[in-house]
Amino acid sequence: MGYLMELPKCPAHDTQMEVRPLNRQTKEQKWCGTWYDCTEPGCNCSILLTSPELDKLHQQQKQNIEKNKREELIEQKDKSSWKLCKKINPLCNIYL
Ligand SMILES: [Zn+2]
Repeated sequence: MGYLMELPKCPAHDTQMEVRPLNRQTKEQKWCGTWYDCTEPGCNCSILLTSPELDKLHQQQKQNIEKNKREELIEQKDKSSWKLCKKINPLCNIYL
């Protein structure tokens, strides 16, 4: 899994975000792609660059809407700054 040459920036602070250490990620998060977090204290902004596997799953789920009921993979973070993946796929419970 490759990292970006240029790190994403926090929309709130305009500072470069850091790649989330693998030991702070769940298995599901690692699978979803590469996560970036804002380093400012108290900032909950995160960005996910989706993996090809997740993109592929979204394609499949569009074709199998009834089939996929998934457990929620929600972190104990402030969800207000998170964008629900549901906007892309109604059955996806991942917060981006
Ligand atoms: Zn921030």
